[in-house]
Amino acid sequence: MRYTQSLVETALLSRRLMEQAVATKADIFVVDDTPENLRLLSTALLQRGYKVRSAIDGSMALMGATAAPPDLMLLDVNMPGLNGYEVCRRLKASAITRDVPVIFISALDEVMDKVQAFALGGVDYITKPFHFEEVVARIENQLTIRRLSLSLQALNAELEQRVRDRTAALEQEVQERQRAQEQLLHLALHDPLTNLPNRTSFLKTVQVALARARQQLEQQFAILFLDCDRFKTINDSLGHSVGDELLIAIAARLQTCLRPEDTLARLGGDEFIICRAAIIDLNQATAFAQHLNEQLRLPFYPRGYEVFVNASIGIVLSDANYDDAEHLLRNADTAMYHAKALGRGRAQVFDPSMYARALNRLKLENDLRRAIERQEFYLCYQPVVSLRSGEIIGFEALVRWQHPDRGVVKPAEFIPAAEETGAITSIGDWVLAEACQQLKQWQERGLAPAGLSVSVNLSVRQFAQRDSLTTIDAVLQATQLSAKCLKLEITESVLIDSPESAMATFEELRARHIQLSLDDFGTGYSSLSYLHRFAMDALKIDRSFTSKIDSGHKNLEIVQAIVSLSHTLGMEAIAEGIETASQLAQLRTLGCDCGQGHFFAPPLLPAAAADLLRQRPRW
Ligand code: C2E
Ligand code: MG
Ligand code: MG
Repeated sequence: MRYTQSLVETALLSRRLMEQAVATKADIFVVDDTPENLRLLSTALLQRGYKVRSAIDGSMALMGATAAPPDLMLLDVNMPGLNGYEVCRRLKASAITRDVPVIFISALDEVMDKVQAFALGGVDYITKPFHFEEVVARIENQLTIRRLSLSLQALNAELEQRVRDRTAALEQEVQERQRAQEQLLHLALHDPLTNLPNRTSFLKTVQVALARARQQLEQQFAILFLDCDRFKTINDSLGHSVGDELLIAIAARLQTCLRPEDTLARLGGDEFIICRAAIIDLNQATAFAQHLNEQLRLPFYPRGYEVFVNASIGIVLSDANYDDAEHLLRNADTAMYHAKALGRGRAQVFDPSMYARALNRLKLENDLRRAIERQEFYLCYQPVVSLRSGEIIGFEALVRWQHPDRGVVKPAEFIPAAEETGAITSIGDWVLAEACQQLKQWQERGLAPAGLSVSVNLSVRQFAQRDSLTTIDAVLQATQLSAKCLKLEITESVLIDSPESAMATFEELRARHIQLSLDDFGTGYSSLSYLHRFAMDALKIDRSFTSKIDSGHKNLEIVQAIVSLSHTLGMEAIAEGIETASQLAQLRTLGCDCGQGHFFAPPLLPAAAADLLRQRPRW
């Protein structure tokens, strides 16, 4: 296709050149030493429409032709001075006149004369006397040949130019493609925000460092996994563009802490990772981590806001046991996770037990996900006893997990993991529905005395979710249980973490007459201001106080203080973990309203709880 097109173009071009040549009159240079001949020939040619120049000797002819090369030369052979052959030889020797076609005119008719004429570069030979028509025919022949050869030359030049242009274009294309490929490669290996190497690129670097360390070409190195503490708060409060600017500034500051042989990469979000080359021991690595945190703690000013940054840092040292860069990264990540758990701005060195724990945790999380589908949860009910009447006034629903391999797993072990993975939402929804249904069933079977309530523990995450109210409404609707029979137990962290949304949920619950208890009081912040703001129905005194109530005066006084605090704020006091008669007696003297604990009954399976209800015990 392309080829045919260029052929057509070439043909058109050649025709154009020919037409141009015909349109302009040919310039004929006539040379003859006989003025009469010269005049006759010139006049005749002029009449035929040619442009005619003339000369009567060889030198004049050469001068004229060199000054302006004619389209054709009619050259007499026999002339005094420079003869025709000599003139021709000189014409052909000059670059200016070399291409001018020369037709000899001569009375000499010897073959050798003609041979010499052609040998010198003549194109034709006319013998005198001639017929003028013959001269014209021969001139026209030569002019046609000349035009053709000129157009061929132009064509060649044009083709060469095209080839040159095309080659240049191809070269540019290749360069552009190379540039694009380089850009793609850069993108594939770099973080677009900070322009730091990304995870893929970092892994390659570490893999190379591992190989070199194995060949003992290089010393040990350390991997430091950094995660900025509370970065989400910065993003949420100042906006993502400020967050982005801060990340760029953090990257730049970290870079200033490095040596040329170290590598800094961004793994995404607020996570950075450093490969610190030539580390001799752990002390060096932890000192470096400390230096990083000191530098990060100096204020940042993204968009004029003053921001302080802390990072949790996980450290791992390369050793001969590592042959996969991924493992180093994973372990540094695990150590970072532990650092975070210890509090902000800390560094933690990896040790293998962390990995085992992380694995267990991962398994637990996976098992939890399956447990929901397989309905492996069940509820136990622990009676809540009125210390005034000694009768059961309610039950606290406590979740249990029947693990297929591990047997019964207690909530303390799986609730935190469920909170983190979000599995708590479905578990919590199930607990709420199951507990409400159970109480309704006891009521229907006539086992539940009037006012018997069920308490359900709500995790922080559940409380923070707006649709938890929708779930509660739906459960009450479905079970037809009176809202007054439902108590929800929350911990102080619910109030501390997001007091505003907690307040809104609180009011909604109040409007429904659902009661609220503050669980584990005394173990957390025990903030009076929160207690004051959030009017609750009951305070649950943590087991740690109850258990030591009879072992020393201080504990007795603390419990006494909590009981009177509850009463001052219009709340009931419920003591958790009553195990002995003496504890019960003490609490009664202190005026504690209710109690729970193994002294009355441990958490019971529904059938056992129903039996207890039937017995109507009185302590
Ligand atoms: P909690 O709400 O403070 O529950 C009381 C815990 O104390 C229960 O532990 C209970 O078995 C235990 N306990 C009660 N009386 C005694 C006693 O006399 N001596 C001793 N040593 N312990 C006693 P459990 O069932 O292991 O639950 C632990 C925690 O797990 C609960 O503390 C609660 O915070 C949480 N939890 C339990 N079920 C759920 C649930 O369905 N949802 C949520 N979000 N959390 C739950
Ligand atoms: Mg509780
Ligand atoms: Mg408790």
